[in-house]
Amino acid sequence: MAVSTVTPTRDSEHVRLLLGLPEIRALIADLDNARWTGRVGYGNRALIGMCLVKAVYALPTWSRVVRLVADHAALRDVIGCAPTADACYRFARKLRENRVPLDVCLHRVVTRLAATTPGYGADLAIDGSDMPAYANGQRYVSRGGRLREKFSDSDASWGHRSSVSTRSGGGYYGFKLHAAVCTHTGLPVAWSVETAKEQETLSVDALLDSAAVRGVRPATIALDKGYDNNRVYATVAAHGARPVIPLRQTPDVKAGRHQPPTCEHGAWTFAGAEEARQTTKWRCPTGECTPGSVRLPASRLHPLIPRSTPRFRALYKGRGAVEREFGRLKNEWGLAPLRVRGLDRVRLHADLTILARLATALTTAPAIAAAA
Ligand SMILES: [Zn+2]
Repeated sequence: MAVSTVTPTRDSEHVRLLLGLPEIRALIADLDNARWTGRVGYGNRALIGMCLVKAVYALPTWSRVVRLVADHAALRDVIGCAPTADACYRFARKLRENRVPLDVCLHRVVTRLAATTPGYGADLAIDGSDMPAYANGQRYVSRGGRLREKFSDSDASWGHRSSVSTRSGGGYYGFKLHAAVCTHTGLPVAWSVETAKEQETLSVDALLDSAAVRGVRPATIALDKGYDNNRVYATVAAHGARPVIPLRQTPDVKAGRHQPPTCEHGAWTFAGAEEARQTTKWRCPTGECTPGSVRLPASRLHPLIPRSTPRFRALYKGRGAVEREFGRLKNEWGLAPLRVRGLDRVRLHADLTILARLATALTTAPAIAAAA
């Protein structure tokens, strides 16, 4: 598609471009109007600039950001000063305590991407990704030692991750990023951070609600086998989209109830889906039977896009976009490793990281023609 997946150069010019975006300027204006900075202190533009530097240069801590800006004349020039680490911590706390300005900004960014980027949000992939805590979650203080009583991150919990590439699956302690990613552009549309033990399938409804509020109406949602349960199918249908999910080996599947109808002429062939009636139509392969066709209500066993069709296979292949985006956010935008503790801090970290990622995509998006 038209959106470049090449990582842009990470330099001061990149940060300058982001600070000049209408959505980022509106965020700074909202913070200025709310009189966020006290009598002394750095301007909101400088502190938002520090947040953007953190993600653009993939730096894990504020102290690294502060050192970089202090040492880097061109960055200092873009930001207008060199804020201290204390100022960054105070600013981050304010962003956590009043979520509204950043939420509004993210809303504006996604809304403009949806309005200006062809294909953005047409087909989504949803998945969760592990974010190990910046804390030790072991139950025992030492091997065979006493039970740990205090955990340095009390919001983190034990969850399970599936194997990826050469890394084996297993338990981990921390949080999970749930995300809906556009399979055409690779860009996130909606996301949330929950504690690791939270069930992945519960996040689907909230993600699709958030996408809808942001003006994204996907036609299909691709998910892996872990989401293959009736509630997810119902949720996807309730949002006017079609599910693309492979089947788990449940008793129904073992009994072959997911197979197309058959007759003496063979297996019946798929003859189209009807969104409004939530049915799929199947025909006798030779047309000799009467009636020659039958409608099956859409269900987990017989979804609107049958698993035997090339369309299903192509859409399911698109699911890889969400995995690749998790990798990009972690490796190129500094989403991992976590250097903050507590659910609200981890959420802010994810929001600021994804803001920089999406805002960067906006710098190449066409402006909305003369917004009236
Ligand atoms: Zn027949």
